[in-house]
Amino acid sequence: MLSRVTFTHLKNLLQFLEGESEKRNGLNIGNKMKCRMCSYSKVFRIENPQSPTMNANTAAVTGIMRIGGGFSNMEEFFSALNIPSTSKKTFIKEHEKLSDAWEVTALKEIESAVSEERSLAIQRGDVDSEGIPLLKVVVDGSWDKRSYKTNYALYVISRHNLIDKFI
Ligand SMILES: [Zn+2]
Repeated sequence: MLSRVTFTHLKNLLQFLEGESEKRNGLNIGNKMKCRMCSYSKVFRIENPQSPTMNANTAAVTGIMRIGGGFSNMEEFFSALNIPSTSKKTFIKEHEKLSDAWEVTALKEIESAVSEERSLAIQRGDVDSEGIPLLKVVVDGSWDKRSYKTNYALYVISRHNLIDKFI
């Protein structure tokens, strides 16, 4: 709890600060403040750049991507909230960063699933004459072109032990 003296002191300090300009990096907003007494200036950002949590730009683009939306959907959403959206350039930068991260995660999951299927095939004795595990998979796919210069290819590979459950 601030004492009366501390609060008064802080109030006196703040009266010398004036806002100079606003710095925007998408949703990360900073206000440049300047001291009228000594001309010292500093940009105060609403987000801590050292924070380990996801920043607002990445979080917003993640949310839009997870619901299958794009830049125009995000613009529309923020417009309804009366909040300026990120620029398209920032959106594309975040989109590419997230797409790369999701691809790495997907590949790790695929490798883990293949390893598990390999072990199950060996346990069942589903191996060829050279001892190579035989994995049954069902593949379906589609090819779609969307904006942001990215071509999406979707392949669905159903795992054998899951197929057994649905047949
Ligand atoms: Zn000063």
